[in-house]
Amino acid sequence: MPEIPEMEIYKDYLNKWVKDKRISEVNVLRVKSVNLESVDFCHNLIGKRIQDITRRSKYIIFHLDDGYFLLTHMMLDGRLFLLPLDESKEDQPIKNLKSEVVNSGAEDLRQRIKQLPGKPSVIFGLSNDLVLFFCSLTLGYLRYLSQDELEAKLGELGSEPLDPSFDAQEFNRLLTGKRGMIKPWLMNPKNIAGVGNAYSNEALFGAGILPTRLISTLSSADRIRLYNSLTMILRDSIRLGGDMEEPFAPWDDFTGGYNPYFKVYDRTGKPCPVCQNVIEKSEIGGRNAFFCSICQK
Ligand SMILES: [Zn+2]
Repeated sequence: MPEIPEMEIYKDYLNKWVKDKRISEVNVLRVKSVNLESVDFCHNLIGKRIQDITRRSKYIIFHLDDGYFLLTHMMLDGRLFLLPLDESKEDQPIKNLKSEVVNSGAEDLRQRIKQLPGKPSVIFGLSNDLVLFFCSLTLGYLRYLSQDELEAKLGELGSEPLDPSFDAQEFNRLLTGKRGMIKPWLMNPKNIAGVGNAYSNEALFGAGILPTRLISTLSSADRIRLYNSLTMILRDSIRLGGDMEEPFAPWDDFTGGYNPYFKVYDRTGKPCPVCQNVIEKSEIGGRNAFFCSICQK
């Protein structure tokens, strides 16, 4: 599931390619993925200019020029993808990735849709002749919302870990008096927004703390190490391209650059990069925890 780094990278790409463009066409292929009747959804969006794109937690928010917002969440396997509508109008640098898609000049869009990283659920045609695909929104969704509706939806979210105001003291304050194990707490969006299974595992490894550690047993040094580990890993991942397999666009060779840097997440049975002990896996709170029982206490 995409977490803060992956959604932040989507946000940056969308700001680069989609911001200030008008939505010229909307196709809803999976009606359950949108919050209105599809005819109303399309009617509300067509002709609107996308003024800005922001992120909160794992949500991307499109700010529309009618004062409404389009909120999207990828959930487990949702993906965004951008394609040029017409090769001849393509003037962007196209690098190696998916070159077979881009260079297939004779193929029409329908052919190229088959090569998307998932089945398209909703498609936007944009005024710059790019096409934005929201793919595999099986659990994910798009919602056209007023400002009040948006604020109600986002109101329960906890702190953004990369917000400048979120420092080690604030992290410590949030943990004070809390009970239970640290990993489920980190993953609860009402505590910290946008941290999921991958980065909670990595942050705990980086801090030398077992996922099962009770919050009440964490010393102030443990808390500072965990704060530093979490924020550093999220920043590193954003800087290096995050953990997404699929590129955002045919010319995107940045996405997924953090994949080789995972130390414990999804590495069961492989050697710990620090002590060579075998990485173990157990289920905590219904999610897989990955850890090194020597490096983490
Ligand atoms: Zn180890």
